[in-house]
Amino acid sequence: MISNAFSSPHCFVKSLSSHAWGRALLLCATLFQIACSGVTTQPERSEEGAGQGSTDIVASGSAQRFSIAAVGDIMLGTDYPSDRLAEDSYALLASVAPVLQLADVTFGNVEGVLMDGGEARKRCTNTSRCYVFRSPASYAETLSRAGFDVVSLANNHARDFGEEGRDATMQALDGVGIYHSGRTGDIAYWEQDGLRLAMIAFAPFGGSHDMLDMDGGRELINGVSSKSDILIVSFHGGAEGADATRVPFAMETFHGEQRGDVVAFARMAVEAGADLVVGHGPHVPRALELYRGRLIAYSLGNFATHWGINVRENNGVAPILLVTMNGDGDFIEGRIHSNRQQRPVGPQPDPQHQAARLIRELTLLDFPATPLTIDDEGYIKPSPAASTSLGASP
Ligand SMILES: [Zn+2]
Repeated sequence: MISNAFSSPHCFVKSLSSHAWGRALLLCATLFQIACSGVTTQPERSEEGAGQGSTDIVASGSAQRFSIAAVGDIMLGTDYPSDRLAEDSYALLASVAPVLQLADVTFGNVEGVLMDGGEARKRCTNTSRCYVFRSPASYAETLSRAGFDVVSLANNHARDFGEEGRDATMQALDGVGIYHSGRTGDIAYWEQDGLRLAMIAFAPFGGSHDMLDMDGGRELINGVSSKSDILIVSFHGGAEGADATRVPFAMETFHGEQRGDVVAFARMAVEAGADLVVGHGPHVPRALELYRGRLIAYSLGNFATHWGINVRENNGVAPILLVTMNGDGDFIEGRIHSNRQQRPVGPQPDPQHQAARLIRELTLLDFPATPLTIDDEGYIKPSPAASTSLGASP
């Protein structure tokens, strides 16, 4: 087995903490840094990676290790138009929470609204096939307890109850200390372990940071990057469905809507200063790419979708991507933890590592030259070419 950062003592800190008092663990973080002094680090960021901030912090950042866990779509049950809630919402995440809590920061896409009451804005002609998602506001606490720190609210269900619904969702998340981004102008900023972090969530849907507007996106990412040490860019883009596993290197459409040119968008995001780009939206996993030393996950698929979202075959593959980077955002290593959604119990660890194998296969198909290796258990390493390559890909 390849050693990895997630076996370090520091990485279990979060499982003992809630987000609210995680910062009190500075002492532990310091001990970790001492323990990790002497770790092999990646070269300083190349000039092509534009837009990093304070030189003081950047100077020490290359010796620091920081980990991020990321998953795709989360919809833990809806009470609209009828009650499709689980008896115990936390039980849906209990099997995967230990992995979600391994990282310093845990990210997911909240595909719906966290709200009590409100009025649906999406009309359903057939109530038996009505995909309007509203979970109770208390589910924000469920997400926090499972380990989530920051979430995307830029997706095709974020406004199922209008902007009022997204307001309610933001308030519910604020109440438990989960950061969020989605609505135009809503950007997550926070400080942790001496680093300035930020997350911007994009989507090709109205009212959210617009992934179809490449110039506007570049300018936004560049500006946020200049104020942060590690910047996560999330996008909910690409076509949907079991056959949507490949990236087409072109604009994608679904239901007559433009859903973004995901490769052009993600590479632009890295060029503008993103340190990790996390895609979701297709409901199935897609390839990874290491581009200019930054990791791009083109889709993490579904993660925990309790009702109304197909979980058969590749739609039920529920990876948790764990990424270790240095304090400058350079990719060091990672791991795809494979899970499968099983109804009604939620995502369960998959000893067959199906998610990892699928993502490896897709990475070899779509980005054969990208300098990454992914092993049978999902461990991700930069390949030897990475030290000299900026990530040449098709
Ligand atoms: Zn969606």
